[in-house]
Amino acid sequence: MSDNTSKQFLENLLITPSPTGFEKAGVKVWKEYVEQFSDEVVTDAYGSAAGKINISGDVATVLLEAHCDEIGMVVQHITDQGFVYVNKLGGSDSTIARAKKVLIHNKRGRVVGVTGNTAIHLQSAKNGGGKQPAWKEIYVDIGVNSKEEALKLVQIGDPITYATDFEFLNDTILTGRAIDNRMGGYIIAEAMKRISKKKKDLKVNVIALNSVQEEVGGFGARMMSYRFMPDVALVTDVTHATDTPGIDQKEHGTVEIGKGPTIQHGGANHPKVVSFLEEVCEKAGIDVQHEATSVRTGTDTDSIFYQQTGIPSALISLPLRYMHSPVETCNMNDVNQLISVMEEAVLAMRPDQTFGVFEG
Ligand SMILES: [Zn+2]
Repeated sequence: MSDNTSKQFLENLLITPSPTGFEKAGVKVWKEYVEQFSDEVVTDAYGSAAGKINISGDVATVLLEAHCDEIGMVVQHITDQGFVYVNKLGGSDSTIARAKKVLIHNKRGRVVGVTGNTAIHLQSAKNGGGKQPAWKEIYVDIGVNSKEEALKLVQIGDPITYATDFEFLNDTILTGRAIDNRMGGYIIAEAMKRISKKKKDLKVNVIALNSVQEEVGGFGARMMSYRFMPDVALVTDVTHATDTPGIDQKEHGTVEIGKGPTIQHGGANHPKVVSFLEEVCEKAGIDVQHEATSVRTGTDTDSIFYQQTGIPSALISLPLRYMHSPVETCNMNDVNQLISVMEEAVLAMRPDQTFGVFEG
């Protein structure tokens, strides 16, 4: 991390819950930081935010994008005894949902609770002992005795996140909740910060976009990219590191943490933008790993590339272990390299930069 302000910003981003559909607090942290070095910051009705650096003249516009939302849970039902049953928000995993401290968020603030877990001594085949639970079996105990008492604290539809924050396991390895994709927000903000200091070398307009609602279908990115119609989009999100036990690399490819960002090939990834990124990385001495996209990238890239008449786009990803869990784990060296890729790519663009497949 380059300085203390950047470090503080990252910590604030990581500790501020931003469950999908309820991202205001998280985007606020991002927006207030980016405002310091953007010419202009715009937001839309659903809460996505974008910082812009504009240069004069008729030049191309490049979009740097990362989603701001995180997966979570939502209050679904409250029993007469005051137990709060939940459903998932986005791709949460019910296997790991029991015996955790959680925060229920609403207008009044935060309510602390724990997801119930029947003690191992009392488990039986009858009560689902040892089996993967369905979401309808997960409940939160908020320490009350009745539905009436519970409804004074929470209401149906309140979002829930795990109460885990983050921890550095050593100088480079970071673990925590919602690194997917708070780290992407950090990366594009830091890239903008560096670009703002090199404005005299900049030949294109730059927009950094922190989009809402990726985890439920890439909706925020769709709204904002339709509005901006940039000439090119560089998207960053997390990707599965496959370097831990039990993952078949023949099936999922080889991706390791600490070996650099991954460049994805195929699908929404425009071949010329991909080559451009490869050249930028080679020139800057940044090691990259490669991944194949068979159908979808599963990121906002899928939402951005086909807007209106098409936006040449490419995804460059951060290898992440244990995705969609409270202990997501990444390597900060990969993060810093991703910031450099974004910065170098933007600075390498020409004023009339285009990426037509049949051009040139
Ligand atoms: Zn993500």
